[in-house]
Amino acid sequence: SAKRSGRSTFVWYTSEMDADAQKRKEIEAGLVKALRFGQFELLFQPQYSLTDNQLKGYESLIRWNHPTKGTIPPDVFIPVAEETGLIEQIGDWVLNRACQEAVSWPDQTLRIAVNVSGAQFSAGETQKKVAKALRETGLDPRRLEIEITESLLISDTDAVVETLQQIREMGVAIAMDDFGTGYSSLSYLSRFPFDKIKIDRSFVQNLGEDAGTDAIVTSIIGLGRSLDVLITAEGVETPEQVTLLRAAGCDMVQGYLYGRPGSVEAHEEHRARLGYNRAEFWDENDDLV
Ligand code: C2E
Ligand code: MG
Ligand code: MG
Ligand code: MG
Repeated sequence: SAKRSGRSTFVWYTSEMDADAQKRKEIEAGLVKALRFGQFELLFQPQYSLTDNQLKGYESLIRWNHPTKGTIPPDVFIPVAEETGLIEQIGDWVLNRACQEAVSWPDQTLRIAVNVSGAQFSAGETQKKVAKALRETGLDPRRLEIEITESLLISDTDAVVETLQQIREMGVAIAMDDFGTGYSSLSYLSRFPFDKIKIDRSFVQNLGEDAGTDAIVTSIIGLGRSLDVLITAEGVETPEQVTLLRAAGCDMVQGYLYGRPGSVEAHEEHRARLGYNRAEFWDENDDLV
């Protein structure tokens, strides 16, 4: 009967929701322990300039090394951290750890990029937290870059603009991450202060395979030019993608082709072993990495 199927539907949804809620609770409890017992780790992924083919810096990417479940990726636990408010403590740890790491590098010209999610960003607090991390670690503000996403820009615009402006006034750069995947209109680009736009991996991965994607990427790069903003392509995996990005005038690249997230020591060893110190991994004389 209708009543019966209605009830069984209800039961089905309920148990699904219970399973989700239970899973979230489990992750939440785990995150509290992770903070207490130091189970988080930052990995670093290199970012190269296509203009001079040199390494310019690294993006920091968090991992949770769970004692029994192994390494848990951020896509699994960052949303729970955001819902529960634990993102605040995790974010503080990330910011300090990233700055500390960059201070320890032999090459003090390299930059460090740090992800700050929308739920973590607070108009009142983020500027203070950035200032505190810089003060405590002694990192030159010009070496720090904060990556935010479009989702931040649809809310409370005036306060957000003001905070981003304050952060930039300290000398820290602002990058717009995952560009092209959000819901915002292009109009915010002129209202919000940015130094860099990162083209989302979903576009980069279809480059050369679909004319529509090629047109979008070319447009974003053109937009960056007119706004005087640097463009980074993320998720670069093939030399063909680099050729197209280079031809379109893209400024910077990041992706598995250049290195997966890892320790900076491992990246440096890899570069030294191959004798490479540049973004051009595929010219006539060199084998592809
Ligand atoms: P994101 O900031 O857009 O980072 C890029 C993601 O793409 C990373 O995934 C990176 O490992 C992956 N990636 C890079 N190059 C390639 C490639 O060539 N191919 C493929 N298939 N993937 C590539 P990851 O490390 O799993 O991070 C996922 C997302 O989690 C990040 O996206 C960022 O939004 C968030 N996240 C990571 N670390 C932090 C953090 O410390 N704080 C906050 N709030 N969010 C973080
Ligand atoms: Mg990022
Ligand atoms: Mg991204
Ligand atoms: Mg992302």
